Amino acid sequence: MQSSGPRPVRAPRGTTLNTRGWQQEAALRMLMNNLDPEVAEHPDKLVVYGGTGKAARDWPSFDAITRTLGTLKADETLLVQSGRPVGVMTTHEWAPRVLLANSNLVGDWATWPEFRRLERLGLTMYGQMTAGSWIYIGTQGILQGTYETFAAVAAKRFGGSLAGTITLTAGLGGMGGAQPLAVTMNGGVAICVDCDPRSIDRRIEHRYLDVRAADLDEALRLAYEARDQRRPLSIGVEANAAEAVPDLLARGAEIDIVTDQTSAHDPLAYLPIGVAFEDMAAEAAKDPEGFTTRARESMARHVEAMVGFQDAGAEVFDYGNSIRGEAQLAGYGRAFDFPGFVPAYIRPLFCEGKGPFRWAALSGDPADIAATDRAILELFPDNEPLARWIRMAGERVHFQGLPARICWLGYGERDKAGERFNDMVASGEIQAPIVIGRDHLDCGSVASPYRETEAMLDGSDAIADWPLLNAMVNVASGASWVSIHHGGGVGIGRSIHAGQVTVADGTALAGEKIRRVLTNDPGMGVIRHVDAGYDHATEVAEERGVRIPMREG
Ligand code: NAD
Repeated sequence: MQSSGPRPVRAPRGTTLNTRGWQQEAALRMLMNNLDPEVAEHPDKLVVYGGTGKAARDWPSFDAITRTLGTLKADETLLVQSGRPVGVMTTHEWAPRVLLANSNLVGDWATWPEFRRLERLGLTMYGQMTAGSWIYIGTQGILQGTYETFAAVAAKRFGGSLAGTITLTAGLGGMGGAQPLAVTMNGGVAICVDCDPRSIDRRIEHRYLDVRAADLDEALRLAYEARDQRRPLSIGVEANAAEAVPDLLARGAEIDIVTDQTSAHDPLAYLPIGVAFEDMAAEAAKDPEGFTTRARESMARHVEAMVGFQDAGAEVFDYGNSIRGEAQLAGYGRAFDFPGFVPAYIRPLFCEGKGPFRWAALSGDPADIAATDRAILELFPDNEPLARWIRMAGERVHFQGLPARICWLGYGERDKAGERFNDMVASGEIQAPIVIGRDHLDCGSVASPYRETEAMLDGSDAIADWPLLNAMVNVASGASWVSIHHGGGVGIGRSIHAGQVTVADGTALAGEKIRRVLTNDPGMGVIRHVDAGYDHATEVAEERGVRIPMREG
């Protein structure tokens, strides 16, 4: 057995199998792809993104998972408990090859201190959403959702474009790094604050961020210049957001839109005022409780300034990192004065079963993604925003790890795309199978009162039966791997969510599975929103034939 420690991991490419079939091979390659240094934020620690979101519990678990996938048969299922492989069961060929449960805790125990205690004992890991479920595709994964969100802001407040506006945000990590490019793709100017100079350098290297300013003065000067010329520009600046955002407010900076994507969901991953960035990890490890208190107090200052910008007329929203909840815990009373992005912009899409559909080419060849891009343009010729995204993504998105693509598709669309990809694999138009998955942040797969299910019409924000039904329906429909997680982007105690990945290997069986999974999975979004009383979801269900028993008979 090889020594189990950190090492560079890169998914195999090409058409040679390292396992007994493409379904197992896909799981192996996507796990390894999550840990590719081009993809993962801290691969040595098995951390993929989102604070401490991991792909496997520890290196011995990673080795045991890859070893087991190497021999797993087409009628066997590997069980993974918070990143550790715990069993192999005989199932059948329609069953998933891997079932994963990550970070789940019983309600009364679902707190960060208890989670950390169990993590220290080696009994669990933080799975985030797509880290522990092996379908993270780098920053592109969130780029399209962020692009859509800013496009919705532009439509709501600025006549359809961000040209001539300045957005202020913080956090240029794995997910937050999508913000500058999403803003410039919408024509706007972005000032992005991060306390880690490496996050800024990385986004510049990947062409998600245009320039770096030496300080806030230079950032503002560059921003005003670009805004006045209606020229898109993104500017990174190294600072603590808890100081920089109040500072900019106090100066009366002309900011039109404010949001944030620091890892606020995990107080140990948010830099408090008064702590040097270099000392952050040591300080957090030395005194987690004290650090948490200081981080929350800093978040309260940060959120107070965001509210200040809202009072001054800016469009302000929480971008799904729980910063309002943390600020409230620190005693700041107006933390929820600005909305989360889902009720503000995304819910109408969820009513149509729309969500972050994504796929990756197991061949490793970008030509395969280019072929799928063309297929999407052919399949949905009337959807201009989708076409604009696919064309821009083809030109501007830097692939990290295996080439991949994301676009938001709805009920009645995802299955068409999946079947087309499977046909293209079968005909040889695409060289190797395509892995089709999605973020857990989807229309019918998550219960998260601070994010996806904030302010549901019927008050059902915290009802967590939906993600569980979603996981079960995907298992029953033939997905290749299915996961149920707790915590995700908003933190322990605040969400339950499920994921599925289905492999288009060009076989007739894969085609059958894809048709069911990619119909039923977004179908959960439609029925969840019908049940909550959204008229738009009811119209979609009626038009597209989604059965709702309470409306029949
Ligand atoms: P990450 O850990 O990769 O990056 C976080 C960044 O924030 C780091 O670069 C860090 O240096 C910076 N940071 C921390 N404290 C700071 C401070 N006080 N001032 C300035 N910068 C600070 O995390 P990520 O993957 O980019 O995710 C960011 C957040 O977004 C997380 O809370 C995550 O759960 C959430 N998230 C939201 C969505 C969504 O759709 N809206 C999706 C996924 C994740």
